[in-house]
Amino acid sequence: MNEYALVTGASRGIGRAVAERLAEDGFKVIINYHHNIDAAESTKAAIEAKGGYAELLPFDVSDGGAIETALTQWEAAHEGEHISVLVNNAGIRRDGLMVFMSEDDWHNVMRTTTEGFYFITRHVLSGMLRARKGRIVNITSVSGISGLPGQVNYSAAKAALIGATKALSKEVAARKVTVNAVAPGFIATDMTADLEEAELKKTIPAGRFGQPEEVASLVSFLCSDQAAYITGQVIAIAGGMG
Ligand code: NAP
Repeated sequence: MNEYALVTGASRGIGRAVAERLAEDGFKVIINYHHNIDAAESTKAAIEAKGGYAELLPFDVSDGGAIETALTQWEAAHEGEHISVLVNNAGIRRDGLMVFMSEDDWHNVMRTTTEGFYFITRHVLSGMLRARKGRIVNITSVSGISGLPGQVNYSAAKAALIGATKALSKEVAARKVTVNAVAPGFIATDMTADLEEAELKKTIPAGRFGQPEEVASLVSFLCSDQAAYITGQVIAIAGGMG
């Protein structure tokens, strides 16, 4: 396969597992990250150790200008190529009760999710539409479906991503581009490392946190040819939560 897959936030956690899995599936993987170059290099090395192809493309997904610059430079360096698979995965949480929520915590969480989706997707979509083939997977959260206390910013951002997924899927289905959302529950990554796992597990019907590789399997399927007729869906992977 000679197709490129861009995974945002692929230096760690779910994004890393998705990048490794898509490389195993035969995609040339573009690893986006923000600050953590050591972790990004480690993802790249893991892919290469298994015979896959990976390259690094750092940019801040909350910065539209940085996104445009990075993607334009990528295209200049890869003449005639385009990105066939986009996984909008990078995300942050800044939890706190609404009455105490700072404007920074509101805007940073919203921007990281929604600006990233808007600028990156708009940019790579034209190549997919021309090729009449493409896969976009947006990593949302059960928090964006049910809403969780202490996460008004995060729930709002992830719910916005669900609306965008559904609307865009209808715009581009005729051009054989699918757009789906994956909604994890609690997954064991750096993002959840500060949570009380022993207590939270009691609220999960499956009785455990999920693993990043389990989310990656679902993303892999949605990016495959077998998933060509699935679009505009929100698929929870949450051990029965939500
Ligand atoms: P994580 O372990 O904290 O990793 C976050 C990744 O996103 C890192 O690669 C980080 O890059 C990157 N990132 C953060 N801000 C960025 C920015 N402004 N620009 C570019 N990259 C940025 O998170 P995770 O648990 O794997 O979560 C991945 C996605 O799944 C997120 O959207 C999250 O909301 C969603 N999710 C997670 C869970 C869960 O339980 N873990 C549940 C539901 C949904 P650096 O390494 O450079 O910082």
